Amino acid sequence: MRRTGFTADHDAFRGTIRKFVETEVVPVYDTWYEAGIVPREFYYKLAELGVFGIEVPEEYGGAGIESFKFQAILMEETARAGVSFGGSSVHVGLCLPYLKKLATEEQKQRWLPGFAAGEIMFAIAMTEPGTGSDLAGMRTTAKLSEDGTHYVLNGAKTFITGGVNADRVIVCARTAPPREDDRRFGISLLVVDTTSPGYTVGRKLDKLGLRTSDTAELNFTDVRVPVEDLLGEENKGFSYLGQNLPQERLSIAAGAYAQAAAAVRFAQEYTQQRNVFGKPVASFQNTKFELAACKAEVDAAEAVVDRALDALDAGELSAADAASAKLFCTEVAARVIDRCLQLHGGYGFINEYPIARLYADNRVNRIYGGTNEVMKMIIAKDMGL
Ligand SMILES: Cc1cc2nc3c(=O)[nH]c(=O)nc-3n(C[C@H](O)[C@H](O)[C@H](O)COP(=O)(O)OP(=O)(O)OC[C@H]3O[C@@H](n4cnc5c(N)ncnc54)[C@H](O)[C@@H]3O)c2cc1C
Repeated sequence: MRRTGFTADHDAFRGTIRKFVETEVVPVYDTWYEAGIVPREFYYKLAELGVFGIEVPEEYGGAGIESFKFQAILMEETARAGVSFGGSSVHVGLCLPYLKKLATEEQKQRWLPGFAAGEIMFAIAMTEPGTGSDLAGMRTTAKLSEDGTHYVLNGAKTFITGGVNADRVIVCARTAPPREDDRRFGISLLVVDTTSPGYTVGRKLDKLGLRTSDTAELNFTDVRVPVEDLLGEENKGFSYLGQNLPQERLSIAAGAYAQAAAAVRFAQEYTQQRNVFGKPVASFQNTKFELAACKAEVDAAEAVVDRALDALDAGELSAADAASAKLFCTEVAARVIDRCLQLHGGYGFINEYPIARLYADNRVNRIYGGTNEVMKMIIAKDMGL
Protein backbone atom coordinates (compact mmCIF):
# COMPACT_ATOMS: atom_id res chain seq x y z
CA MET A 1 0.00 0.00 0.00
CA ARG A 2 1.12 3.50 -0.78
CA ARG A 3 2.00 5.60 2.24
CA THR A 4 -0.17 8.67 1.82
CA GLY A 5 1.38 10.85 4.54
CA PHE A 6 4.72 11.34 2.79
CA THR A 7 5.37 13.93 0.06
CA ALA A 8 8.04 14.42 -2.62
CA ASP A 9 10.05 16.47 -0.07
CA HIS A 10 10.06 13.51 2.29
CA ASP A 11 11.15 11.20 -0.53
CA ALA A 12 14.02 13.52 -1.45
CA PHE A 13 15.11 13.68 2.19
CA ARG A 14 14.94 9.88 2.40
CA GLY A 15 17.23 9.61 -0.64
CA THR A 16 19.75 12.04 0.87
CA ILE A 17 19.81 10.19 4.20
CA ARG A 18 20.11 6.78 2.53
CA LYS A 19 23.17 7.93 0.61
CA PHE A 20 24.68 9.65 3.66
CA VAL A 21 24.24 6.50 5.77
CA GLU A 22 25.81 4.34 3.06
CA THR A 23 28.87 6.55 2.63
CA GLU A 24 29.43 8.12 6.07
CA VAL A 25 28.11 5.58 8.55
CA VAL A 26 28.13 1.99 7.25
CA PRO A 27 31.91 1.93 6.54
CA VAL A 28 32.81 3.08 10.09
CA TYR A 29 29.92 1.59 12.06
CA ASP A 30 31.84 -1.37 13.45
CA THR A 31 34.34 1.02 15.04
CA TRP A 32 31.53 2.92 16.76
CA TYR A 33 29.98 -0.37 17.85
CA GLU A 34 33.23 -1.51 19.44
CA ALA A 35 33.78 1.86 21.13
CA GLY A 36 30.19 1.93 22.41
CA ILE A 37 29.65 5.52 21.35
CA VAL A 38 29.13 7.70 18.29
CA PRO A 39 32.08 10.12 17.99
CA ARG A 40 31.12 13.65 18.99
CA GLU A 41 32.46 15.03 15.67
CA PHE A 42 29.89 12.98 13.75
CA TYR A 43 27.17 15.20 15.18
CA TYR A 44 28.67 18.18 13.35
CA LYS A 45 28.22 16.22 10.11
CA LEU A 46 24.58 15.52 10.96
CA ALA A 47 24.12 19.20 11.75
CA GLU A 48 25.71 20.20 8.45
CA LEU A 49 23.27 17.93 6.68
CA GLY A 50 20.52 19.92 8.40
CA VAL A 51 19.22 17.02 10.47
CA PHE A 52 19.21 18.84 13.82
CA GLY A 53 17.68 22.02 12.46
CA ILE A 54 14.67 20.59 10.60
CA GLU A 55 12.17 21.55 13.30
CA VAL A 56 14.12 24.51 14.70
CA PRO A 57 12.44 27.83 13.74
CA GLU A 58 14.21 29.73 10.96
CA GLU A 59 15.06 32.73 13.16
CA TYR A 60 17.29 30.42 15.24
CA GLY A 61 19.10 28.82 12.32
CA GLY A 62 16.75 25.95 11.44
CA ALA A 63 14.43 25.06 8.57
CA GLY A 64 11.27 25.79 10.59
CA ILE A 65 9.39 22.66 9.51
CA GLU A 66 6.60 21.64 11.88
CA SER A 67 6.60 17.92 11.23
CA PHE A 68 8.05 14.89 12.98
CA LYS A 69 7.95 12.84 9.78
CA PHE A 70 11.52 13.70 8.84
CA GLN A 71 12.71 12.18 12.11
CA ALA A 72 10.65 9.08 11.38
CA ILE A 73 12.42 8.81 8.01
CA LEU A 74 15.78 9.00 9.77
CA MET A 75 14.76 6.10 12.00
CA GLU A 76 13.57 4.08 9.03
CA GLU A 77 16.75 4.66 7.06
CA THR A 78 19.14 3.90 9.92
CA ALA A 79 17.22 0.71 10.78
CA ARG A 80 17.21 -0.28 7.11
CA ALA A 81 21.02 -0.09 7.04
CA GLY A 82 21.35 -1.79 10.45
CA VAL A 83 23.00 1.27 12.07
CA SER A 84 22.12 3.95 14.60
CA PHE A 85 23.08 7.58 15.24
CA GLY A 86 23.34 6.89 18.99
CA GLY A 87 22.09 9.43 21.51
CA SER A 88 21.35 12.13 18.96
CA SER A 89 17.79 10.83 18.54
CA VAL A 90 17.09 12.14 22.04
CA HIS A 91 18.61 15.54 21.18
CA VAL A 92 16.05 16.08 18.42
CA GLY A 93 13.18 13.74 19.22
CA LEU A 94 12.87 14.37 22.95
CA CYS A 95 14.61 17.58 23.91
CA LEU A 96 13.65 19.94 21.11
CA PRO A 97 9.90 19.96 21.87
CA TYR A 98 10.65 21.09 25.45
CA LEU A 99 12.88 23.91 24.21
CA LYS A 100 10.41 25.05 21.57
CA LYS A 101 7.41 25.01 23.88
CA LEU A 102 8.90 26.19 27.16
CA ALA A 103 12.03 28.29 26.56
CA THR A 104 11.78 32.07 26.79
CA GLU A 105 12.89 34.20 23.86
CA GLU A 106 16.21 34.87 25.60
CA GLN A 107 16.75 31.14 26.23
CA LYS A 108 15.88 30.26 22.64
CA GLN A 109 18.48 32.72 21.40
CA ARG A 110 21.07 31.19 23.72
CA TRP A 111 20.36 27.54 22.96
CA LEU A 112 18.63 26.93 19.63
CA PRO A 113 21.32 28.11 17.16
CA GLY A 114 23.87 25.87 18.93
CA PHE A 115 21.29 23.07 19.00
CA ALA A 116 20.83 23.22 15.22
CA ALA A 117 24.58 23.50 14.60
CA GLY A 118 25.40 20.44 16.71
CA GLU A 119 27.46 22.63 19.04
CA ILE A 120 25.13 22.15 22.01
CA MET A 121 24.00 18.53 22.30
CA PHE A 122 21.06 17.99 24.66
CA ALA A 123 19.93 15.03 26.76
CA ILE A 124 17.06 14.66 29.22
CA ALA A 125 17.34 13.20 32.71
CA MET A 126 14.19 11.96 34.40
CA THR A 127 15.05 8.46 35.65
CA GLU A 128 16.89 7.94 38.93
CA PRO A 129 18.48 4.84 40.41
CA GLY A 130 15.50 4.55 42.80
CA THR A 131 12.67 5.53 40.46
CA GLY A 132 11.77 5.17 36.81
CA SER A 133 8.11 4.33 36.19
CA ASP A 134 7.04 6.31 39.24
CA LEU A 135 8.58 9.65 38.31
CA ALA A 136 6.77 11.56 41.05
CA GLY A 137 9.01 9.68 43.47
CA MET A 138 12.19 11.37 42.21
CA ARG A 139 14.62 12.58 44.88
CA THR A 140 17.02 14.90 43.05
CA THR A 141 16.55 18.35 44.57
CA ALA A 142 17.14 21.89 43.31
CA LYS A 143 17.05 24.39 46.15
CA LEU A 144 16.73 28.08 45.35
CA SER A 145 19.61 30.09 46.86
CA GLU A 146 18.81 32.72 49.49
CA ASP A 147 19.59 35.56 47.10
CA GLY A 148 17.36 33.95 44.46
CA THR A 149 20.04 33.92 41.76
CA HIS A 150 20.55 30.18 41.34
CA TYR A 151 19.42 26.69 42.28
CA VAL A 152 21.67 24.24 44.08
CA LEU A 153 21.24 20.84 42.47
CA ASN A 154 21.93 17.58 44.33
CA GLY A 155 21.15 14.00 43.39
CA ALA A 156 21.74 11.36 40.76
CA LYS A 157 20.18 10.19 37.51
CA THR A 158 20.70 6.99 35.59
CA PHE A 159 20.11 5.49 32.12
CA ILE A 160 20.57 8.90 30.49
CA THR A 161 20.84 8.53 26.71
CA GLY A 162 23.47 10.82 25.25
CA GLY A 163 24.73 11.41 28.79
CA VAL A 164 28.40 11.27 27.80
CA ASN A 165 28.25 13.51 24.74
CA ALA A 166 25.73 16.01 26.14
CA ASP A 167 26.60 19.69 26.60
CA ARG A 168 23.29 20.56 28.31
CA VAL A 169 20.94 18.23 30.14
CA ILE A 170 17.31 18.96 30.91
CA VAL A 171 17.27 17.71 34.51
CA CYS A 172 14.00 17.03 36.32
CA ALA A 173 14.39 17.90 39.99
CA ARG A 174 12.29 18.66 43.02
CA THR A 175 12.12 22.37 43.78
CA ALA A 176 9.34 21.84 46.36
CA PRO A 177 8.04 18.88 48.35
CA PRO A 178 5.01 17.02 46.96
CA ARG A 179 1.60 18.19 48.16
CA GLU A 180 -0.52 15.83 50.17
CA ASP A 181 -3.21 15.83 47.47
CA ASP A 182 -0.76 16.00 44.52
CA ARG A 183 2.53 14.12 44.63
CA ARG A 184 3.35 15.36 41.12
CA PHE A 185 3.60 18.96 42.32
CA GLY A 186 7.06 20.40 42.97
CA ILE A 187 9.07 19.08 40.04
CA SER A 188 10.89 21.57 37.81
CA LEU A 189 13.00 21.35 34.66
CA LEU A 190 16.49 22.85 34.71
CA VAL A 191 18.81 23.11 31.72
CA VAL A 192 22.13 22.17 33.27
CA ASP A 193 25.50 22.98 31.71
CA THR A 194 27.52 19.77 31.86
CA THR A 195 30.74 21.71 32.50
CA SER A 196 29.39 23.11 35.80
CA PRO A 197 31.47 22.33 38.91
CA GLY A 198 29.88 19.44 40.84
CA TYR A 199 28.39 17.88 37.70
CA THR A 200 29.95 14.50 36.94
CA VAL A 201 29.26 11.77 34.44
CA GLY A 202 29.40 8.37 36.13
CA ARG A 203 29.66 5.05 34.34
CA LYS A 204 28.80 4.72 30.67
CA LEU A 205 26.52 1.72 31.08
CA ASP A 206 27.38 -1.59 29.40
CA LYS A 207 24.15 -2.53 27.64
CA LEU A 208 22.63 -5.58 25.99
CA GLY A 209 21.83 -3.57 22.86
CA LEU A 210 21.94 0.00 21.48
CA ARG A 211 25.67 -0.25 21.93
CA THR A 212 26.51 2.93 20.02
CA SER A 213 24.25 4.98 22.24
CA ASP A 214 26.04 6.54 25.23
CA THR A 215 23.77 5.75 28.18
CA ALA A 216 25.22 7.12 31.39
CA GLU A 217 24.82 7.80 35.07
CA LEU A 218 24.91 11.46 36.12
CA ASN A 219 25.74 12.85 39.56
CA PHE A 220 25.10 16.33 40.93
CA THR A 221 26.85 17.68 44.01
CA ASP A 222 25.96 21.28 44.84
CA VAL A 223 25.75 22.19 41.15
CA ARG A 224 24.88 25.89 40.75
CA VAL A 225 22.23 26.35 38.09
CA PRO A 226 21.40 30.00 37.31
CA VAL A 227 17.67 30.82 37.63
CA GLU A 228 17.87 31.94 34.00
CA ASP A 229 18.18 28.23 33.12
CA LEU A 230 14.85 27.18 34.61
CA LEU A 231 12.72 25.83 31.74
CA GLY A 232 9.06 26.78 31.99
CA GLU A 233 7.52 27.55 35.36
CA GLU A 234 8.78 26.30 38.68
CA ASN A 235 7.03 23.20 40.11
CA LYS A 236 5.08 22.48 36.92
CA GLY A 237 7.59 20.01 35.46
CA PHE A 238 5.39 16.96 35.75
CA SER A 239 2.71 18.41 33.51
CA TYR A 240 5.38 19.38 30.96
CA LEU A 241 6.62 15.79 30.93
CA GLY A 242 3.04 14.64 30.36
CA GLN A 243 2.69 16.95 27.35
CA ASN A 244 5.90 15.79 25.69
CA LEU A 245 5.87 12.07 26.38
CA PRO A 246 3.39 11.28 23.53
CA GLN A 247 5.98 12.37 20.94
CA GLU A 248 8.68 10.32 22.69
CA ARG A 249 6.42 7.27 22.67
CA LEU A 250 5.50 7.71 19.03
CA SER A 251 9.17 7.97 18.16
CA ILE A 252 9.76 4.63 19.92
CA ALA A 253 6.81 3.13 18.02
CA ALA A 254 8.19 4.47 14.73
CA GLY A 255 11.67 3.14 15.51
CA ALA A 256 10.29 -0.29 16.43
CA TYR A 257 8.25 -0.44 13.22
CA ALA A 258 11.35 0.53 11.23
CA GLN A 259 13.37 -2.22 12.91
CA ALA A 260 10.68 -4.81 12.20
CA ALA A 261 10.52 -3.78 8.54
CA ALA A 262 14.32 -3.99 8.32
CA ALA A 263 14.27 -7.45 9.93
CA VAL A 264 11.92 -8.77 7.24
CA ARG A 265 14.22 -7.40 4.54
CA PHE A 266 17.30 -8.93 6.14
CA ALA A 267 15.57 -12.30 6.53
CA GLN A 268 14.24 -12.30 2.98
CA GLU A 269 17.67 -11.51 1.54
CA TYR A 270 19.41 -14.04 3.76
CA THR A 271 17.02 -16.93 3.13
CA GLN A 272 17.15 -16.37 -0.62
CA GLN A 273 20.91 -16.79 -0.73
CA ARG A 274 21.39 -19.48 1.97
CA ASN A 275 21.15 -23.06 0.68
CA VAL A 276 20.14 -25.94 2.94
CA PHE A 277 19.46 -29.49 1.67
CA GLY A 278 20.41 -28.19 -1.77
CA LYS A 279 17.70 -25.51 -1.83
CA PRO A 280 17.44 -21.87 -0.76
CA VAL A 281 15.93 -21.56 2.74
CA ALA A 282 13.40 -19.17 1.19
CA SER A 283 11.99 -22.05 -0.89
CA PHE A 284 10.64 -23.89 2.17
CA GLN A 285 6.98 -23.32 2.85
CA ASN A 286 7.72 -22.56 6.50
CA THR A 287 10.02 -19.70 5.48
CA LYS A 288 7.44 -18.24 3.09
CA PHE A 289 4.70 -18.47 5.73
CA GLU A 290 6.89 -16.96 8.42
CA LEU A 291 7.94 -14.05 6.22
CA ALA A 292 4.40 -13.49 4.97
CA ALA A 293 3.06 -13.41 8.53
CA CYS A 294 5.82 -11.01 9.56
CA LYS A 295 5.12 -8.76 6.56
CA ALA A 296 1.42 -8.58 7.49
CA GLU A 297 2.34 -7.52 11.04
CA VAL A 298 4.79 -4.91 9.73
CA ASP A 299 2.11 -3.51 7.41
CA ALA A 300 -0.26 -3.14 10.36
CA ALA A 301 2.43 -1.39 12.42
CA GLU A 302 3.18 0.91 9.48
CA ALA A 303 -0.47 1.93 9.31
CA VAL A 304 -0.53 2.68 13.05
CA VAL A 305 2.69 4.72 12.86
CA ASP A 306 1.59 6.70 9.79
CA ARG A 307 -1.76 7.54 11.37
CA ALA A 308 -0.09 8.57 14.61
CA LEU A 309 2.46 10.72 12.73
CA ASP A 310 -0.42 12.56 11.01
CA ALA A 311 -2.14 13.01 14.37
CA LEU A 312 1.06 14.34 15.97
CA ASP A 313 1.64 16.83 13.15
CA ALA A 314 -1.98 17.96 13.52
CA GLY A 315 -1.50 18.40 17.29
CA GLU A 316 -4.07 15.69 17.97
CA LEU A 317 -2.02 12.77 19.30
CA SER A 318 -3.34 12.02 22.78
CA ALA A 319 -1.36 10.34 25.56
CA ALA A 320 -3.49 7.21 25.14
CA ASP A 321 -3.06 7.20 21.34
CA ALA A 322 0.73 7.38 21.73
CA ALA A 323 0.73 4.70 24.42
CA SER A 324 -1.34 2.45 22.18
CA ALA A 325 1.00 2.98 19.20
CA LYS A 326 4.06 2.26 21.35
CA LEU A 327 2.52 -0.84 22.88
CA PHE A 328 1.40 -2.28 19.56
CA CYS A 329 4.45 -1.50 17.43
CA THR A 330 7.00 -2.60 20.01
CA GLU A 331 5.21 -5.91 20.59
CA VAL A 332 5.00 -6.46 16.81
CA ALA A 333 8.70 -5.69 16.45
CA ALA A 334 9.62 -8.12 19.21
CA ARG A 335 7.69 -10.95 17.54
CA VAL A 336 8.82 -10.15 14.00
CA ILE A 337 12.51 -9.71 14.79
CA ASP A 338 12.57 -12.94 16.78
CA ARG A 339 10.99 -14.89 13.91
CA CYS A 340 13.32 -13.30 11.35
CA LEU A 341 16.32 -14.14 13.50
CA GLN A 342 15.17 -17.78 13.66
CA LEU A 343 15.22 -17.93 9.85
CA HIS A 344 18.93 -17.02 9.94
CA GLY A 345 19.81 -20.14 11.95
CA GLY A 346 23.09 -19.83 13.88
CA TYR A 347 24.19 -16.78 11.92
CA GLY A 348 21.28 -14.91 13.47
CA PHE A 349 23.07 -15.16 16.78
CA ILE A 350 26.31 -13.67 15.51
CA ASN A 351 26.72 -9.92 15.95
CA GLU A 352 28.31 -9.55 12.52
CA TYR A 353 24.82 -10.05 11.12
CA PRO A 354 22.52 -7.04 11.43
CA ILE A 355 19.60 -9.20 12.57
CA ALA A 356 21.49 -10.12 15.76
CA ARG A 357 22.12 -6.46 16.59
CA LEU A 358 18.51 -5.59 15.79
CA TYR A 359 17.32 -8.30 18.15
CA ALA A 360 19.37 -6.82 20.99
CA ASP A 361 18.61 -3.19 20.10
CA ASN A 362 14.89 -3.77 19.91
CA ARG A 363 14.50 -5.24 23.40
CA VAL A 364 14.59 -1.90 25.17
CA ASN A 365 11.66 -0.53 23.16
CA ARG A 366 9.29 -2.32 25.51
CA ILE A 367 11.05 -0.82 28.54
CA TYR A 368 12.05 2.79 27.98
CA GLY A 369 9.90 5.83 27.38
CA GLY A 370 7.65 4.24 30.00
CA THR A 371 7.39 0.45 30.12
CA ASN A 372 4.69 -1.33 28.16
CA GLU A 373 2.96 -2.10 31.45
CA VAL A 374 2.78 1.67 32.04
CA MET A 375 1.39 2.05 28.47
CA LYS A 376 -1.39 -0.41 29.38
CA MET A 377 -2.16 1.62 32.51
CA ILE A 378 -2.50 4.81 30.41
CA ILE A 379 -4.74 3.10 27.84
CA ALA A 380 -6.89 1.48 30.53
CA LYS A 381 -7.31 4.80 32.34
CA ASP A 382 -8.41 6.42 29.08
CA MET A 383 -10.98 3.63 28.69
CA GLY A 384 -12.39 4.66 32.04
CA LEU A 385 -11.12 1.54 33.80
C1 LIG B 1 18.84 2.10 27.11
C2 LIG B 1 18.02 2.99 27.97
C3 LIG B 1 17.96 4.35 27.71
C4 LIG B 1 17.23 5.20 28.54
N1 LIG B 1 17.23 6.55 28.29
C5 LIG B 1 16.68 7.40 29.21
C6 LIG B 1 16.84 8.82 29.10
O1 LIG B 1 17.46 9.32 28.16
N2 LIG B 1 16.32 9.60 30.08
C7 LIG B 1 15.62 9.10 31.14
O2 LIG B 1 15.18 9.86 31.98
N3 LIG B 1 15.43 7.75 31.25
C8 LIG B 1 15.95 6.90 30.33
N4 LIG B 1 15.79 5.53 30.46
C9 LIG B 1 15.04 5.02 31.60
C10 LIG B 1 13.72 4.35 31.25
O3 LIG B 1 12.77 5.28 30.82
C11 LIG B 1 13.29 3.56 32.50
O4 LIG B 1 14.18 2.45 32.60
C12 LIG B 1 11.86 3.08 32.40
O5 LIG B 1 10.97 4.16 32.50
C13 LIG B 1 11.53 2.07 33.53
O6 LIG B 1 11.91 2.53 34.78
P1 LIG B 1 12.78 1.58 35.75
O7 LIG B 1 13.94 1.10 34.96
O8 LIG B 1 13.06 2.30 36.99
O9 LIG B 1 11.85 0.34 36.00
P2 LIG B 1 10.82 0.17 37.22
O10 LIG B 1 9.95 1.38 37.30
O11 LIG B 1 11.58 -0.22 38.44
O12 LIG B 1 9.95 -1.06 36.71
C14 LIG B 1 10.24 -2.44 36.99
C15 LIG B 1 9.07 -3.29 36.50
O13 LIG B 1 7.90 -2.94 37.24
C16 LIG B 1 6.84 -2.67 36.34
N5 LIG B 1 5.92 -1.69 36.92
C17 LIG B 1 6.20 -0.44 37.39
N6 LIG B 1 5.10 0.15 37.84
C18 LIG B 1 4.08 -0.71 37.67
C19 LIG B 1 2.68 -0.69 37.95
N7 LIG B 1 2.11 0.38 38.52
N8 LIG B 1 1.93 -1.78 37.63
C20 LIG B 1 2.49 -2.86 37.07
N9 LIG B 1 3.83 -2.96 36.78
C21 LIG B 1 4.59 -1.90 37.07
C22 LIG B 1 7.52 -2.13 35.10
O14 LIG B 1 6.66 -2.23 33.97
C23 LIG B 1 8.71 -3.06 35.03
O15 LIG B 1 8.35 -4.26 34.40
C24 LIG B 1 16.48 4.66 29.63
C25 LIG B 1 16.53 3.28 29.88
C26 LIG B 1 17.29 2.45 29.09
C27 LIG B 1 17.35 0.99 29.44
